[in-house]
Order: sequence, then C-alpha cells, then structure tokens
Amino acid sequence: RQIIANEDSSKLVNRPPVVTILGHVDHGKTTLLDAIRHSEVAAGEAGGITQHIGAYQVEHKGKLITFLDTPGHAAFTAMRARGAQGADIVILVVAANDGIMPQTREAIAHARAARVPIIVALNKIDRPDANPDFVKKQLADLDLVPDEWDGNTMVVPVSAKQKTGIEDLLEAILLVSESMDIKANPSSNQIIGTVIEAELDHGKGVMATLLVQNGSLEVGDVILAGKAVGKLRAMFDFHGKKIRKAGPSSPVQVMGLSDVPEAGELFQVYSSEKEARLIAEERKAQVQQKSINAPKA
Ligand code: GDP
Repeated sequence: RQIIANEDSSKLVNRPPVVTILGHVDHGKTTLLDAIRHSEVAAGEAGGITQHIGAYQVEHKGKLITFLDTPGHAAFTAMRARGAQGADIVILVVAANDGIMPQTREAIAHARAARVPIIVALNKIDRPDANPDFVKKQLADLDLVPDEWDGNTMVVPVSAKQKTGIEDLLEAILLVSESMDIKANPSSNQIIGTVIEAELDHGKGVMATLLVQNGSLEVGDVILAGKAVGKLRAMFDFHGKKIRKAGPSSPVQVMGLSDVPEAGELFQVYSSEKEARLIAEERKAQVQQKSINAPKA
C-alpha cells in the first residue's frame, strides 16, 4: 500500500488486517462489533474489556485482527477523504430481512472508492422474515456476486444478536487478508499512522487513539498529528493497560499531545521536537490566515 511505498521490501512483514464495519442504520453494526469483541479471548488479556477507545483487536486461530469501532464510522470516511486508507477490509452489514438500503449503497461506494475489498455479513439471519436469497440477488445486481454463485464476494450469514456465524466471519477475514499484501516494517524509522479519535479529558489532557500503520510507536516519541504536537507521556492498549511500544496495526491510546487532532488525520514521529513544533505552528498560522481571508457572510 501507498503508505509504505519507500520501504525496503526485505524488511516488510505481515501485520494484522484492519477491518471496518459499514452498513445501513439499524442493520446491526454495533451489535456485530460487540459480538465479535466478546467472541474470542481479546488479544493479550482474558476477560472483560472496559475501554472503548475506537478500536480493538481479537485473536482468531493465532492471528490478530484489528477492528475499528467508531460510532458513525466518521473515522473511516475522514480517512478516506484524506486518502489515508486506514482500513484493509470492509465488512458490509446487510440485514437479511431488509436488504440493500441507501446507506448500504453509500458504504459500497466508499469501499470501492478506497479500493478496499468487501465481505458481506448477512445479519439478522435468525429473524423469521429473513430472506437471504433475495438479498444475495440484490448483492449480485450490485456486482457483489456471492462466492457460492461463483462470484468473488464472501457472504457470511450471521446473527449478531444470537452470536452465530461470528467464527465464519473471522475466518473469511483471514482468508481475504491472506490473499492481500498486508505488510509493514515494524523497525522502520518512518513511523506513521492515523488518528482514530481524540478528545480532551479534563483530568488527563488530550487523549488520542492512534492506529499505527508503519514502524513502532514508543513512549517518549515526538509526534505531529495535524496541528497537534507532543512528546508521548504514556501509551495504553485497548484494554487500558500501560504499554511502552506498539507495532503496525496496533490501536493505542496516547497522552501528551498539545491539541485535539481530528479523526482521520495522519500522524508521524519526528526525531526533532523543534521541527515538529515549527510545522505545527505553521499549520496553525495557515488556518488563521485562511479564516482572515475568508469572505464575510
Ligand atoms: P446499527 O445501527 O447498524 O449499529 O444497528 P444496531 O446494532 O444498533 O442494531 C439495531 C437493532 O437490530 C437492535 O435492536 C438490535 O438488537 C437488532 N439486531 C442486531 N443484530 C441482530 C440480529 O442478528 N438479529 C436480530 N433479530 N436483531 C438484531
């Protein structure tokens, strides 16, 4: 992928796929994200997860998968708008009783524009009014021909509510990701990624969830994310556990930024704090200049 265009190919290693869930409102995105989160021993730690930081990881058959868990999926849209291509795979949730709806079409358009492969989760399969064949026909009409009809789209029947079909869905994700080139260089000095979400916590300052995409992020690193800059004071995994280092495809929560960056913004580690601060100042000045020059309404 573009982000690692100038990496030495001998240093590239597989990283977990980053998955985002899209679909029409009420088709079951939130329920599915919850079902997946609880389906496996979430990577690194058994038991309940208390943190909602906008992303999490699960382990399936010894392999990690990163899920973006952002309400409204603003991050995905923002990332796409900035060309950052945060997600490797889109799970398109379609309710089996409802079929293709306007936001389903929108999601397909988003995924296609970002050139991200789509796996369909045919949800609510437990409902008596579920009509999977009808929905498969609708999908085929949109050029998402189910693999059982000799097409290229995996269509996995699930019930997010009853937690059935989740393993099959994870299996499908691993299958698709193995056919792709999902790689990064964990020891690169080009340490970059995307802001998933960020907020100002009155006790802790700016808390930002970052998705590391190349290199490894460490406590003490100086990062620049849009107009926000800072030396990372602390870093947490999605369990809220303190960590010192995070490699490609890891979602982490960090403390130490000066401002709240926007979801979808790229971040990069700088070796010089002075340089990073200078660029941040320039960016802020540009924004001010723009607002001065903007025509008055
Ligand atoms: P979202 O808007 O796409 O995030 O949808 P939600 O996850 O909030 O689900 C919308 C509604 O559908 C809720 O009332 C869920 O309980 C229900 N729902 C979600 N998944 C299933 C399912 O697999 N079967 C049934 N019967 N209901 C479901």
